[in-house]
Formats: sequence, structure tokens, C-alpha cells
Amino acid sequence: MAIVRVWVTEECTGCGLCETTCPDVFQLNDQASVKEDADLAANEELVRQAADECPVEAIQVEEG
Ligand code: SF4
Repeated sequence: MAIVRVWVTEECTGCGLCETTCPDVFQLNDQASVKEDADLAANEELVRQAADECPVEAIQVEEG
């Protein structure tokens, strides 16, 4: 299945790991967010890795 949507919940602590793992998709200010122009299809593997590795499971991935 392909990733159709990615978002970050309020649980995010701003640790920065996801931005390091996949800077094409995640950006960090106080908390992480998903870039508006993020190419999810080109970054699926790294998005899944970032979601798996987030210490507070704040990265939500919807597949379709
Ligand atoms: S890895 Fe998780 S907690 Fe860390 S910045 Fe990304 S979303 Fe936030």
C-alpha cells in the first residue's frame, strides 16, 4: 500500500529525529510538521522509518 497522508500529533517533543531521518518530508520548528510540498511517494521508506523511530509515536501514517 502507498502512503497517502502523514501528520504529526501534539505528542511531538521536538527531538528532531524525524527531520534528520527524512528532511524532504519533515521540518522542525518547536514541533515537527510535514512539509506542504513533501513528495511522499519518493520518501515512503524513510517516512516509515521516521514513524517507527519516533520516541513518542507522534508520526501518523495513513496508507491507501
Ligand atoms: S521524531 Fe517524533 S518527537 Fe521527534 S521531532 Fe519527530 S515527530 Fe517529534
